[in-house]
Amino acid sequence: MSDQLFSVSDQHVLITGGSRGIGRAIAEGFATRGAEVVICSRSQESIAAAVQEMQKAGMSVTGLTCDVSDPEQIKSTVAAAIEQLTHIDTLINVAGVNRRQRAETFTAADYDFVLDTNLRGAFLMSLEVGRHMIERQSGTQINIESLNTWMPLKGVLPYAMSKFGMQGMTRGLALEWGRHGIRVNSLAPGFILTDLTKKLWSDPTMQAWNEANAPLGRLGQPEDMIGTAVFLASKASAFMTGQTLYVDGGFSSGWSWPIPLP
Ligand code: NDP
Repeated sequence: MSDQLFSVSDQHVLITGGSRGIGRAIAEGFATRGAEVVICSRSQESIAAAVQEMQKAGMSVTGLTCDVSDPEQIKSTVAAAIEQLTHIDTLINVAGVNRRQRAETFTAADYDFVLDTNLRGAFLMSLEVGRHMIERQSGTQINIESLNTWMPLKGVLPYAMSKFGMQGMTRGLALEWGRHGIRVNSLAPGFILTDLTKKLWSDPTMQAWNEANAPLGRLGQPEDMIGTAVFLASKASAFMTGQTLYVDGGFSSGWSWPIPLP
């Protein structure tokens, strides 16, 4: 049986933060299933390298340089993506940064650095693409939140605030845009090994903590995010909007505590 329910093969997709890590894996996940994909990030060099590798593997992918913390670059990137793709069916807001330190040591500059990319950047990107989707009365948007939207982790306060905000944005846009045929949902990854986190997870104390507490007993890989991203972009999730799916190896299902059991 050829089942179109989970198909993204006819989709035109824009992915921010698509050069590395989770964004890159999701870009490959869509492109290998026949979607036409535009990826963007700040570094011209890493975008060019990613595009070259993916095109070599036969994927329909192009790249644009865009710093989502700059509103003007968002406008020009969305215009260029629409020109390249003719239209956008799915936007995936992946671009994100983090700073880890004690709450009392954060400065206004730290706050702006994290929030301008993770929240304001995603917000302005969603609106810019949203206006295009409203004209078409069709589209899906997927935002990448974090386990921090379930419960904040110590030492990353602006980041946790940005992800809480993103969940509010996801629900709010879902409320307003459902009548335009636009669905907005989020994925909340757990602990995924990428450039953003590899130093943290190279610490033996952190590894031991994960081994003791991770319900599925391992860290996630960027590829673990593909299935749910495809699901949220496809007809299979046609009656879902405003939701956050936790793709976290089970962490958000509850506490693992050292209760003595017989
Ligand atoms: P990486 O650091 O591996 O990749 C981040 C991507 O975002 C890169 O492509 C980077 O490219 C791009 N990027 C960063 N800042 C900007 C910006 N201002 N404008 C445009 N692109 C930007 O991170 P991950 O893959 O780990 O994280 C991706 C998303 O997933 C983030 O939103 C993160 O918060 C979230 N997440 C990650 C988890 C994890 O455990 N890894 C867990 C939960 C959530 P460039 O440097 O070229 O701009």
